[in-house]
Amino acid sequence: MDCIFCKIASGEIKSSFVGENDWFVAFDDINPVAPTHVLVIPREHVKSLEELTAFDDEVLKSLFDLVDEIVRSKGIKDSGFRLIVNQGSDSGQEVEHLHFHILGGRKLGRLG
Ligand code: 5GP
Ligand code: ZN
Repeated sequence: MDCIFCKIASGEIKSSFVGENDWFVAFDDINPVAPTHVLVIPREHVKSLEELTAFDDEVLKSLFDLVDEIVRSKGIKDSGFRLIVNQGSDSGQEVEHLHFHILGGRKLGRLG
């Protein structure tokens, strides 16, 4: 499968991770829309949000622990941030490997 995020997760495409654990890696978005724009992705190819329900509680907890670690290290925990998943064509999703955007570092506009 030719998936850019699989290549980033596996290290085939060199990137510097801003956080990682056994199941997820996080790296800066190549085209940031806010001063902090991090993508958190599962190491394995997961196509959509509902596939995450197959993951056990430990994995899901590790996801939110990693998000917490990243917002602390980026200094946006207290100022606030947004955690977004785009899914499907109406959302404008471009990469079909599940990813969570963490946006922060400025006042964010209304959703939509
Ligand atoms: P989507 O619109 O699918 O929710 O978001 C995909 C995101 O991935 C976009 O914000 C885009 O800038 C980012 N992106 C696409 N290709 C790459 C890449 O090769 N490296 C990094 N770091 N980000 C990428
Ligand atoms: Zn993938």
